Amino acid sequence: MSQTTPKLAALQAKIHAKDPHQPEFLQAIDEFFANLTPFLEQHPEILEHNLVEMITEPERAIQFRVPWQDDAGKWQVNRGFRVQFNSAIGPYKGGLRFHPSVNLSILKFLGFEQIFKNALTGLPIGGGKGGSDFDPKGKSDAEIMRFCQSFMTELHRHIGPNLDVPAGDIGVGGREIGYMYGQYKRLRGNDQGVLTGKGLTFGGSLARTEATGYGLVYFVKHLLADQGDSFEGKKVMVSGSGNVAIYAIEKVHELGGLVVSVSDSSGYIYDPAGIDLVLLKEIKEVKRARLTEYVKARPESEYIADQSVWTLQVAADIALPCATQNEILPEHVAGLIENGVKIVAEGANMPTTLEAVDLLQTAKVVYCPGKAANAGGVAVSALEMSQNSARLSWTFETVDQELDKIMKMIYENCRDTAQEFGLADNLLAGANIAGFRKVSEAMLAQGLV
Ligand code: GLU
Repeated sequence: MSQTTPKLAALQAKIHAKDPHQPEFLQAIDEFFANLTPFLEQHPEILEHNLVEMITEPERAIQFRVPWQDDAGKWQVNRGFRVQFNSAIGPYKGGLRFHPSVNLSILKFLGFEQIFKNALTGLPIGGGKGGSDFDPKGKSDAEIMRFCQSFMTELHRHIGPNLDVPAGDIGVGGREIGYMYGQYKRLRGNDQGVLTGKGLTFGGSLARTEATGYGLVYFVKHLLADQGDSFEGKKVMVSGSGNVAIYAIEKVHELGGLVVSVSDSSGYIYDPAGIDLVLLKEIKEVKRARLTEYVKARPESEYIADQSVWTLQVAADIALPCATQNEILPEHVAGLIENGVKIVAEGANMPTTLEAVDLLQTAKVVYCPGKAANAGGVAVSALEMSQNSARLSWTFETVDQELDKIMKMIYENCRDTAQEFGLADNLLAGANIAGFRKVSEAMLAQGLV
């Protein structure tokens, strides 16, 4: 990472002082600051207009009460949020996360990252994020439905196809989007462009489910091609076992690589013969069960409870963290390097701590930040919005080809921007500068400062 200037350091300290109790948000801020100096040195007008501080402040953050009734008839209450971070280049766009860890700090970190990720897609979408501390684990289908309906009963007044377009994230998939869309429709009428990740029978896009995982693998495919290499014969470690992990595995296998691990919050699976995707999909998508089911059906694999998958000591070429924030810690890095990992590409948002990123980059492991590598999900969400506006449904092939093109363009933009600023191979710096350049230009052009 490059050196910051005293002026930037003072600004960073000022932002820290505003929200001392938001560690995840401040982590995203620190990563951003660490990569911006070379760009700001060429563009003094940005600091003159105080645009850096400006962009770290959400345009709006909404918090609300979500009351709902459980199956026993008891009233429960959760917190709902929507952080509308930046609308300089288009309507706020970003997922909703339902997980007990959700709070303003986590949503501000996710929303902040989303601004630059969305800018990198080349499509006109601003950045936002939302969700709830509701825990979907162990809830019945009826409870999930009542929660989603109550959540949307408040959220509907803050969103719209030209204002803010939520989608899924951890804990929010097709089922939840369907229930939320149903409630939106009752309150506001049929307006499909208000949510993405919808079911295919009511305005959803083909390939949206696959998009984040496929896009991640396309990003790495283009990086490998640049090195005259491919996925053929590559051994890959994956963490997580949700939507992103599943479709990343599917694409790696299609391209001739072998994925040997997956994980959930209770442990991980090591399957040296390669993850059995039919089985994994059955467990996670149909039964909504835990990974312990996997070893029962496949005794040649191992289940290691209460351990991070990043402690697994096996030879591997590529690591794809697809679980959640801060899963790759500094203590995991030496093992990854010794085991032969040359590329770490993030399917999750901020799964690698800042210190771990530094260690990887120092060891010349190519680090592909989530805001670039996992942008395929939101990119196809934007394509879903286009289809909804045009009242059309594109074929799977059309969307998939478009996704591949977008991921190539994002990779090249990160690579070329890093080179332009003398930071060759630093895709993180390239991503931050390229994303910020676009958004800051739009903010200045619109006279928002
Ligand atoms: N939650 C996803 C992300 O982190 C997708 C957001 C969307 O499709 O709007 O980018």
